[in-house]
Amino acid sequence: MRFLDKIFKSPPKKKQAACSICKSIMNQNDGFALSTAQVVSSRKYWDRKMVEPETLSYTTAHFKNQDQRATMMRKIIFEKTAGKEIVWMTCESCIDHFEVCQDETKQLAAQWWQNDTGFVLPNKGKAEDNMSSEDFEEIKSYATMEAGSSFVRR
Ligand SMILES: [Zn+2]
Repeated sequence: MRFLDKIFKSPPKKKQAACSICKSIMNQNDGFALSTAQVVSSRKYWDRKMVEPETLSYTTAHFKNQDQRATMMRKIIFEKTAGKEIVWMTCESCIDHFEVCQDETKQLAAQWWQNDTGFVLPNKGKAEDNMSSEDFEEIKSYATMEAGSSFVRR
């Protein structure tokens, strides 16, 4: 019987999750669910991302030394992020980086907490597939060339 119980028992619901942006722990039903396109579209996100400890050296070299390898690394960071096919769960403070409908993304988060594998975002997938090519190229250029400049420049 134990064996059968294991087979038929539904998998446990998610109780906690880390914010995809700042890694702080969120409790069940907290947060907002965003698509990669919604995350990538935000200039504020890139201003923050490009001055994180892992990226700051590239950003400094890009602005202060016009180091082309550093600029290329920033472009690669953008492309890797834009290519992620994930649900971004963001906390109450990180949601302010994004120009999205908070009610809608909150409702999507509630669905995400309820489903273990069945949850599908309306605009899931790579950023490029859910944005106009003009918008995509514009934010790519911003992330590569401009993001984080106010932090680095005196
Ligand atoms: Zn956060």
